[in-house]
Amino acid sequence: MRRKLVIGNWKMNGNLAANASLLAGISAGLSAGAADCAVCAPAPYLAQCQAALTGTPVGWGAQDMSAHASGAYTGEVSAAMLVDFASRYVILGHSERRAYHLESSELVAKKTVAALAAGLIPVVCIGETLAEREAGQTNAVVGAQLGAVLEAISTADVARLVLAYEPVWAIGTGKTATPEMAQEVHAALRAQLAQANAAAAPAVQILYGGSMKPDNAKELMAQPDIDGGLIGGAALKATDFLAIIHAAA
Ligand code: PEP
Repeated sequence: MRRKLVIGNWKMNGNLAANASLLAGISAGLSAGAADCAVCAPAPYLAQCQAALTGTPVGWGAQDMSAHASGAYTGEVSAAMLVDFASRYVILGHSERRAYHLESSELVAKKTVAALAAGLIPVVCIGETLAEREAGQTNAVVGAQLGAVLEAISTADVARLVLAYEPVWAIGTGKTATPEMAQEVHAALRAQLAQANAAAAPAVQILYGGSMKPDNAKELMAQPDIDGGLIGGAALKATDFLAIIHAAA
């Protein structure tokens, strides 16, 4: 039985004061039996997350990291640096990184290998654009994005992945994939995972992301292969984020 997991992607939002109240609101509002949850904060605030969340059920992590271990890579943050602040998760291959920083699936795969080597849980994001969906290419696009990662990691490490299916046209737009649309892709991704490691695939958490809100979360997460959510906008308000976490339970 897969546990539900809800992760907040803060993107480039927040400041010390706003984060303090958001983190306090989330940890104070969690009721017993809530789904697993975490926030992925901008790297400068990982120390704040560690201080505020240690000893609570809320995990934390980052939104990206370097594929390199250390060295002359100005501006980059390594996996080991994330681990120094007890990060559990790292989002990799978010569509905003793929679009604005031209990250290829091969680079995302290298980052995934580096994250796993450091003991982090990579939350690998995959998803098609509207043009790709309209051209009937959804399964081919997400299959290629996942395929690059599966080629780079060991068979055993399939069990250590978290995937996030995030249709690009649904991110930050208020448009959500219907539960059936999302389920279809999630099932295809799980079948692809099973080809790589049949024993591990049924346990891999596949999150949905793209305008998940308190009013649509329950319906989406009721689908058999939707194991939680990667939440952008609604993760910035404690009451909304909590409502989604409780909808997942
Ligand atoms: C995201 O950034 O991963 C995301 C899903 O954003 P939103 O929930 O705002 O669509």
